[in-house]
Amino acid sequence: MALRKILNLKRLKQVVVSYNYNEALAAVDQGAPVSGPLKPTNDEIAVGIAMTPTVLRDGEAMSVMVLNAAYLEILVAAETPQNAALREQMIYTLAHECGHVHDLDVRATSMPDIILKQRLSFRDGILFGIASGCWDEYMACRLSAFISRESVLRPLEDTFCTALEQARDRANAAIRQYRMHADVSGITKEVSEVYKRVMVYAAYMLGHIDGIEGEVAALVPKAMDALERQPYFKPFFSRLCDELRTMHGTYGQWKGLEVYEPLKQLADELLKVGGIDIQPRADDGAYVHIPFSAETMPTLEEQMAFLVGEEFRRSDVNVCREGSVFGENGEHHPNWGVTKTSARFKLGGRDYLSRLDQKDKMQ
Ligand SMILES: [Zn+2]
Repeated sequence: MALRKILNLKRLKQVVVSYNYNEALAAVDQGAPVSGPLKPTNDEIAVGIAMTPTVLRDGEAMSVMVLNAAYLEILVAAETPQNAALREQMIYTLAHECGHVHDLDVRATSMPDIILKQRLSFRDGILFGIASGCWDEYMACRLSAFISRESVLRPLEDTFCTALEQARDRANAAIRQYRMHADVSGITKEVSEVYKRVMVYAAYMLGHIDGIEGEVAALVPKAMDALERQPYFKPFFSRLCDELRTMHGTYGQWKGLEVYEPLKQLADELLKVGGIDIQPRADDGAYVHIPFSAETMPTLEEQMAFLVGEEFRRSDVNVCREGSVFGENGEHHPNWGVTKTSARFKLGGRDYLSRLDQKDKMQ
């Protein structure tokens, strides 16, 4: 196979192809103290079709490739002009996942006994999570770019643009909810997840562009426009690009996780700009400062929706049928429409929609 000439699959321990992709991912034994089972990418920006997590097997860092059979089956279907684009996408996906395996071997060879073996503090866990996410996707994209030079770049650019255009509003809305629910660790993870997506999707795009030795400004004009509309991210974008290339300059000679420090620093600064300041404390503790600003103060509507949502949760509402709701004592509230996850109600002549499943996410 042509791929093997270029990408080293020595550390590929197992390939799982499953129609139950989510279950297959969750079932991967990571062999290391981690925060929880693996979950697929499945937000409104991107849907996961493959993932190659790193696991520990007999003390060695290895890769497990998990592939979603619903997408992969196109490779065994008869070739038609209609499925050509999808076939190309899946072949690219396989190459990209092989890129992760190759990258793991380069890192694990130069830094033995480090990968998945270091316990990280709360703060380091978040910042290293962002930094390593950026590196992993940058390198996998850079290594696999040769296989689909043109057609992959557009979706990578679109994904980055969507993440960037949404990030600020999303993160600020989440912080406004935090002012009411006061779950510091929850809001820190939620906001850092939003900005992580922007950085990691930028890293995918930059990795592909560097893989085909292209010019960023010339190849992704839509991304350049999006950056003009979200100027706060412009310096982060160019520093991310510089730092990833600097890391690539010493690739294969890394001695420890210090090589990620500039990216962690960048992530820390971005989170501060986004309103979340994770300050280190003694004994690996952290204090999260979330300064007040106009954009992160809940509106009156949000406050009322939150309070009513709290009331619903406390009263253990019985949902009898969609569109109507009955309280604890069987009283019927004709103005309230309720589904399993949200409640729509009228208050003072205005309409409100309150999410019941996650108190920190309201529309
Ligand atoms: Zn990847």
